[in-house]
Amino acid sequence: MQYTEIMVRYGELSTKGKNRKIFINQLVMNVKKALHQFPNVRIHGERDRMHLLLNGEDSTKVMECLRPIFGIQNFSPSIKVEKSLDQIEDTALQLMDEIDTAGKSFKVEAKRADHTFELDTNDLNRELGARIVKAFPKIKVQMVRPDIKLRVEVRNEGAFLSCLTIKGAGGLPVGSSGKGMLMLSGGIDSPVAGYMAMKRGVKIEAVHFASPPYTSEQALAKAKDLTVKLAPYVGEIKFLEVPFTEIQEEIKQHVPPSYLMTVTRRMMLRITDAIRLKRKGLAIINGESLGQVASQTLQSMIAINDVTNTPIIRPVVALDKNEIIDLAIKIDTFELAIQPFEDCCTIFAPPQPKTKPKLEKAIEYENRLDVAGLIERALERIEITEIHAGESYLENQEDEFSDFL
Ligand code: ATP
Ligand code: MG
Repeated sequence: MQYTEIMVRYGELSTKGKNRKIFINQLVMNVKKALHQFPNVRIHGERDRMHLLLNGEDSTKVMECLRPIFGIQNFSPSIKVEKSLDQIEDTALQLMDEIDTAGKSFKVEAKRADHTFELDTNDLNRELGARIVKAFPKIKVQMVRPDIKLRVEVRNEGAFLSCLTIKGAGGLPVGSSGKGMLMLSGGIDSPVAGYMAMKRGVKIEAVHFASPPYTSEQALAKAKDLTVKLAPYVGEIKFLEVPFTEIQEEIKQHVPPSYLMTVTRRMMLRITDAIRLKRKGLAIINGESLGQVASQTLQSMIAINDVTNTPIIRPVVALDKNEIIDLAIKIDTFELAIQPFEDCCTIFAPPQPKTKPKLEKAIEYENRLDVAGLIERALERIEITEIHAGESYLENQEDEFSDFL
């Protein structure tokens, strides 16, 4: 069946009162970006739903691109026909013929916006229902929670039919809640945190601390590939690589092992916050989960969080590791995250970091460092990469390596 349009139903945004227009405009922009390889599609964002006119583009491919877009509750591929009962009936039968109807229950849900049309809603339901039962004897009518809903809408421009409703990604359109900086390591937790922040409408930029040569090119490529996995929800994500070697060496040299981790985290947070300010972000997002490791106790959070007042969003703070892993599998970051490339923290990690660091001690040790100078030099040498869905940094690296051999 050649579908002519896709009807998109909004999620929560339809309850957002005055902000609704902003939300719809953001969603239209995000959909446009996601569908850039389908130049013929026309997008109409209306008050209570969005219509995508396909103009010959492949509906299956277009729908694949709609799946990850936040702010979409569900969508239905539809077909537009002339407003005549014959046409509507023929098309309804064809649509039903294409899906599995044996043993299933169904109902017709007609709507008539064009009141000049010859049949009213009840007539339409009855007529079409009777024709379908006759043509498909194995199907049964059921008004409450049917397996199949055949929707028929008679509007001024034509009659629209659909019998499939596909679940969307839910959430809010990315960007509608502003921008935040995601502290992205190479681990399991922070990509999941980034996904969850995007789901609530936050546009993210990834900040990654790398300490070459202690951390490898692969560790960096892995963090970029994790960003690739987050890109389909937005189109592209800026990846900011912060050189962290000098800072880690300085800390290692001047701070006692039990406070290495606390001071390291404070430096990371300060730098992330400086980047946020410069790039007009509103929040910082990280992958901390309460009690998971020494740096993630409440006492540690007090000692680390002390360097800024900026809201820190910790989407996975209350999840168990298993729950985070389930999400990581769902968004396809798990396999990558468990690849064993060392990131900067594991290399400099002391065997026994303090689980209850004291803020005063952290400040005292930190005063042995040229904090301002270190931060300034790191900020000056940040490298920004724009990352898109479908890229592969680890793979490219393997290619380079084999060229070298
Ligand atoms: P993850 O699985 O996200 O690596 P984790 O359980 O390993 O988290 P930590 O290593 O304590 O936890 O890191 C806590 C958080 O600090 C991370 O979730 C991430 O947001 C941030 N972080 C840690 N290392 C880096 C890094 N190299 N670059 C950017 N952010 C980092
Ligand atoms: Mg980690």
